[in-house]
Amino acid sequence: MRQKVRQQSPEERRKNFSEVSLGLSDEQAKTEAKRCIQCKQPKCIEGCPVGINIPAFINLILQDKRKEALVKIKEKNNLPAICGRVCPQEDQCEKFCVLNKTGEPINIGALERYAADYELVHSLQLTAHRKKLDSKVAVVGSGPAGLTAAADLAKIGYQVWLFESLHIAGGVLSYGIPEFRLPKVIVRKEMDYISGLGVQIHTDILVGRTFSLDDLFTQGFPAIFLAVGAGLPQFLNISGENLSRVYSANEFLTRINLMKAYRFPEYATPINIGDKVAVIGGGNVAFDCARVALRLEKDTELIYRRTEKEMPARQEEVENAKAEGLKFRLLTQPVRILGDEKGFVSGLECIKMELGQPDSSGRRRPIPVKDSNFILDVDTVIVAIGQKPNPLIGKVTPGLKINPNGTIWVNENLTTSIPGVFAGGDIITGADTVISAMGAGKKAAVEIDKYIKGSR
Ligand code: FAD
Ligand code: SF4
Repeated sequence: MRQKVRQQSPEERRKNFSEVSLGLSDEQAKTEAKRCIQCKQPKCIEGCPVGINIPAFINLILQDKRKEALVKIKEKNNLPAICGRVCPQEDQCEKFCVLNKTGEPINIGALERYAADYELVHSLQLTAHRKKLDSKVAVVGSGPAGLTAAADLAKIGYQVWLFESLHIAGGVLSYGIPEFRLPKVIVRKEMDYISGLGVQIHTDILVGRTFSLDDLFTQGFPAIFLAVGAGLPQFLNISGENLSRVYSANEFLTRINLMKAYRFPEYATPINIGDKVAVIGGGNVAFDCARVALRLEKDTELIYRRTEKEMPARQEEVENAKAEGLKFRLLTQPVRILGDEKGFVSGLECIKMELGQPDSSGRRRPIPVKDSNFILDVDTVIVAIGQKPNPLIGKVTPGLKINPNGTIWVNENLTTSIPGVFAGGDIITGADTVISAMGAGKKAAVEIDKYIKGSR
């Protein structure tokens, strides 16, 4: 039987920001590893965008070789403790596991985390052994795409300079995903590994403002990888969105995660929210916001315009949120945010919806029910309806081709319209997943290596 990961109880965890999942015990990890039938032509590897040799590392866990299992994973994945926690494995490697045909797939994510957490207590600094090359590469953006490309390029021998606009590196891993799903100590640990490979991480540098891509070429970088993500919040475009206590999901999560508002007064950066919070959206980001608000002891409701069946969030997160007591208000669309005389949110006018025929996303289209408007008594609104690609570099770089949806245009080798400039991750796909961004970072490292060696 597939081993279930241990968790903090819902009653306990909704009062704290500590990690919900407690991982597999040694015994559980062995039992789970034993279930893998070590397929001769394993399909699970095809489902992993960074191509981890999954059966091989599982077999090492079975032999009690946890450290060796981690070394095996790190041959391909520079951020295993992160991926073991946040990858949507049900849509990746586990979806391809042959055991799906007869029962439940191997819990690959939990086993990856089990191997990776070895490093929490034992140091395993694998350094880049290759001879250092003369060439420098600039990586812009330190999310999973940038970190992966930087690590792989450093392993080849390049001198890699990683530029990040925020004061802390890690992209969404640091500012977006909350502590209770991805502890920041884990993110720091995996970034220490990447710095240990020789990658120089420079924070507080906004490429496009602090300096341009041309400046980087002039400074002697023959190749640049743009991994600037999709961090531009989308709004509902309804009246009242400029009132105080209306937050985009990004701002709300950044204040909580990066500025540690949840630890006020230990950190002098509180967040101004009321007692009754409406979170708008049905994706993973909306659930992260709602579960943070619950932990801040706010009366929290999730407002979604379709039904639970159409929610894009991971089923696991929906179940976790339900167990923690999150209230859902489904088939509901906000139409106006009401404000008081001081400019603060005082209510949310909504309309009821019903489902019609499927739209271009394949999900049934929500249609407003006539004369069904009502007012919700809330004092804080968090808008979590999606993010768009960061537009700055596209705007200030002549010749950089941008697609109509705001993503950077690239060819199949991740080359942009400017020779020597590559791009990958959410900035070329729009909001996606950690592991797809890492897959792009890996591919970019190979292509950049070919480009630099080919242009000598
Ligand atoms: P990002 O992680 O967005 O990193 C881009 C970095 O570039 C940022 O640090 C940004 O500050 C920096 N930057 C931007 N412009 C510049 C510039 N001009 N100069 C210098 N630096 C710049 N995916 C999952 O697989 N599992 C999850 O559980 C999950 N949860 C999520 C929760 C939230 C709240 C959010 C927002 C996303 C979540 N995702 C999840 C999606 C996933 O995090 C992203 O797909 C992934 O981080 C994209 O990686 P990236 O490297 O392309 O960009
Ligand atoms: Fe093991 Fe499943 Fe991969 Fe086969 S497909 S090697 S059973 S994890």
